[in-house]
Amino acid sequence: MKRVALITGGTRGIGFGIATQLAKEGFNLAVNGTRPEEAVQTAVEELKALGAEVMYCRGSIASSADRKNMISNIRKHYDALHILVNNAGIAPRERKDILEATEESYDEVMTTNLKGCYFLTQLAANWMIEQKQKDTGFSGCIINVSSISATVASVNRGEYCLSKAGLSMATQLFAVRLGEFNIPVYEVRPGVIRTDMTAGVKEKYDKLIGEGLCVQQRWGEPADVGKVVAALAKGDFLYSTGQVVMVDGGMTIPRL
Ligand code: NAD
Repeated sequence: MKRVALITGGTRGIGFGIATQLAKEGFNLAVNGTRPEEAVQTAVEELKALGAEVMYCRGSIASSADRKNMISNIRKHYDALHILVNNAGIAPRERKDILEATEESYDEVMTTNLKGCYFLTQLAANWMIEQKQKDTGFSGCIINVSSISATVASVNRGEYCLSKAGLSMATQLFAVRLGEFNIPVYEVRPGVIRTDMTAGVKEKYDKLIGEGLCVQQRWGEPADVGKVVAALAKGDFLYSTGQVVMVDGGMTIPRL
């Protein structure tokens, strides 16, 4: 039986890069997103062409009812969940200085990027424990896609930085709590990756990357993140729970 991976926001950008690599590694997939089924058909077909069984779970990770629905649909369909990849996330609708940013934007970003991931992890973790107790051979893990913004301060998107710093602690909390069940929890921390999220700031980053922002002088691609997630999901880092894997082309190495 193929193992099953749920990737939130798995139909485009980094999430699709992750889903692609997991399909290639022989996982069956549940990909989540907020768009209607018709809008994600091409992405789903591409994943199926790689040999994976794919179910689309429409819903917002920011909604408690949608999170429960997603897990219960995966239970009905696959009756198993081995890997949760908390990838879905949003940037603030408008970048605003922290002296002016609004509570509405704070609530929206934190509810999606932190609360949504935290409580989806709670649901998945309880189900993984249940599976482990039934079958000691069960092998699961949880992977959180945070950002260099967990530690790099951008004062024009404070709520985003806070959400990713919080997700980093959530990784450690669940790593500790799930240790006794031998379910590792990891954090993957991308730098600047070429997706719709960064499309609006392309010129800015083209220039910065050209000037040496990253040690490796290119944009990161969704496949760069996908390959790291696939290695973690396959079980290549079994004794490294709670760890952060940087996927930032060396951007955060302090340099003089
Ligand atoms: P993206 O905007 O291209 O894709 C995000 C995906 O998440 C979309 O499919 C979107 O529909 C989905 N999504 C958004 N809100 C959702 C919700 N409430 N419920 C379910 N799905 C939802 O973004 P991306 O660049 O692929 O980013 C993916 C993750 O990587 C995010 O968590 C982001 O913060 C993080 N990240 C991105 C970069 C980057 O440079 N692109 C860098 C560091 C971290």
